[in-house]
Amino acid sequence: MTDTPKYGFDTLQIHAGAKPDPATGARQIPIYQTTAYVFRDADHAAKLFNLQEVGYIYSRLTNPTVGALAERIAVLEGGVGAVCCSSGHAAQIMALFPLMEPGCNIVASTRLYGGTVQQFSNTIRKFGWSCTFVDFDDLDAVAAAIDENTRAVFCESIANPGGYITDLDAISAVSDKAGLPLIVDNTSATPYLCRPIEHGATLVVHSTTKYLTGNGTVTGGCVVDSGKFNWAASGKFPSLAAPEPAYHGLNFYEALGGMAFTFHSIAIGLRDLGMTMNPQGAHYTLMGIETLSLRMEKHVENAQKLAKWLENDPRIDFVTYAGLESSPYYERVAKICPKGAGALFTFAVKGGYDACVKLVDNLQLFSHVANLGDTRSLIIHSASTTHRQLTAAQQEAAGAAPNVVRLSIGVEDADDLIADLDQALAKATA
Ligand SMILES: *Cc1c(COP(=O)(O)O)cnc(C)c1O
Repeated sequence: MTDTPKYGFDTLQIHAGAKPDPATGARQIPIYQTTAYVFRDADHAAKLFNLQEVGYIYSRLTNPTVGALAERIAVLEGGVGAVCCSSGHAAQIMALFPLMEPGCNIVASTRLYGGTVQQFSNTIRKFGWSCTFVDFDDLDAVAAAIDENTRAVFCESIANPGGYITDLDAISAVSDKAGLPLIVDNTSATPYLCRPIEHGATLVVHSTTKYLTGNGTVTGGCVVDSGKFNWAASGKFPSLAAPEPAYHGLNFYEALGGMAFTFHSIAIGLRDLGMTMNPQGAHYTLMGIETLSLRMEKHVENAQKLAKWLENDPRIDFVTYAGLESSPYYERVAKICPKGAGALFTFAVKGGYDACVKLVDNLQLFSHVANLGDTRSLIIHSASTTHRQLTAAQQEAAGAAPNVVRLSIGVEDADDLIADLDQALAKATA
């Protein structure tokens, strides 16, 4: 790591992973728009391929711009290493890939991003993997869902579509007891609001598409490794802690210790799955991260104001924002995400499905899009869009019932956002 952890978050979000370009002195991290890198000589090339020396071979594996971003996110999360990939969904596959074999399963929270529910319910079955979904507030149910083929426990810190905060300390106690890694999707919280590794997470995954980039320009993902998990202890992770046939029999854990997961993800995951982030995309995300804390402060302040206003409005049935004292998860904010409950929440409109559709159609400042974590305020009616493939029970469990809309509060003036909601609600409930 270039930076020592003595610096504060605001400093690290600008400086971690960044040093003046050795060739030109360029202060900003250049976009290394190159596919391949010249080897000094044949011996250098051999050392790189043997992982005896760290360096650049081919941009499907590593690239200096992408590498700077991975290092920055790893530092902000308090991890030892990270690998960037082409999207958040790619990051989830990359996180599972070194852990899983056909016939293995994961235990995941019912409260997840709709696309993740889909990926885990159906798509991963093509690899012979499966997922058991359980209510992560029911710790006994989580423990009971774990069987001898379980290889990971998966949840979100602040869960999409909103209002729910996972008790990461309690969940990591369950995964620790079972000798399993805990994977936490920290997309909605970002490391500014929540640092899952401090609450026992083994791996942290991100859709960098959202708050880390922050302005809705590029898709990306990242997997951060805490470096703390003992991959050899249970004998359940042969890809990491036994001779790996996909890398000439290297035992990654024996050779690389705490960096085993990161090196495996690059040397095999990116090499063979090819879910690589491109340097141009990494550049946008690096620019975004420089202002992460400033944006998150404002996102949270605005979300708090809007949630309060909506809660007091007679046209609204309920608001699920953990930053409201009425939320059953209010207590968890101080423990899990002390700088705020994020900027993503849902509310139910009196008048149900039809009123929700009218609401989204009449808003002027809020954009109706399938995204979140933008500087702009966004709205989506999950039941008719992102969550429409799910069953009614899955929609309900995910907090995306037909009468519910989700807001991703941006960093505009809160008063303008309130005025926009006010006029659209008037039309929707007339
Ligand atoms: C968007 C999102 C994902 C998927 O990320 P993509 O970059 O869209 O692939 C995963 N988890 C959460 C919480 C998300 O918000």
